[in-house]
Amino acid sequence: MAASNGAPLVVFDFDKTIVDCDSDNWVVDSLGATRRFDDLLRHLPWNHAIDAMMGELHAEGRTAEDVAACLRAAPLSPHVAAAIESAHARGCELRVLSDANAFFIETVLAHHGLAGYFSGTDTNPAHVDGAGRLRIRPYHEFAAPAPGHGCALPSCPPNMCKGKVMERILQEEEEAAVAARRRRRAVVYLGDGRGDYCPSLKLREGDYVMPRAGYPVCDLIGGAPPAAAVREWDGFEDLARVLLGIVDDEIARAAVTTTTEQDDAAAMNAAVVGAVVVPDCRALPARQEAALLPQAVRVPN
Ligand SMILES: [Mg+2]
Ligand SMILES: [Zn+2]
Repeated sequence: MAASNGAPLVVFDFDKTIVDCDSDNWVVDSLGATRRFDDLLRHLPWNHAIDAMMGELHAEGRTAEDVAACLRAAPLSPHVAAAIESAHARGCELRVLSDANAFFIETVLAHHGLAGYFSGTDTNPAHVDGAGRLRIRPYHEFAAPAPGHGCALPSCPPNMCKGKVMERILQEEEEAAVAARRRRRAVVYLGDGRGDYCPSLKLREGDYVMPRAGYPVCDLIGGAPPAAAVREWDGFEDLARVLLGIVDDEIARAAVTTTTEQDDAAAMNAAVVGAVVVPDCRALPARQEAALLPQAVRVPN
């Protein structure tokens, strides 16, 4: 983790958040396989169906490069690209948390020159096998005897609980903050779908959820709101505006906190220099009083 200027960690969903489509449907529709994919979905979970679909397309002579060519044509708003670049330039760490797959996400981000802005991606693993067929695996193996992710929320698909991933990310954030002896930076999560509800619930007060207005995650959040602040975005220009507003607020807040800490240190020095005349702590605001107490070691939380 980089030295913090207070810029939050920003975690993006991918489908309908970074790209303005569902990338699975986009590829299937682009390759003329919509009806067959619907047939597969009748008896397979989504994640298995898209893997099977890639197998059928490969058997017909469609290559992984054909799939990549579809993905390069997927719609991605220049406002999203600008938001990603600007958030990164302000010091934000950026991650992707998606139920798409690694091949689709890497192809799209690389095509738009955005891959280098992200420090990591959590998604369903994918690879092109020796025969040239694209394989897509579940993030959490769930076919017996694998135990699955164990989350009971009905909005989490069997192959991926984004909430479990968010718990891991928050744990890593806490540990990094403790090691650096500072407050944990805020986490911002952007998403649109039902699967984005579980990670939203994992965020705490001081964090932010950015649900896409009018999309399924909004209904779930409206029914049982998370502890984090909810900031809706309606369209990609709005996404950029809301996200960068949060980033700027967090950076400004951190600057104020830093100044306060310097004031505290100055107050403590003054007390030491003028040790003969110890200031009456009862006359000081509680914050300064705490700074004067010898046991007031600043513990990051
Ligand atoms: Mg999505
Ligand atoms: Zn879950």
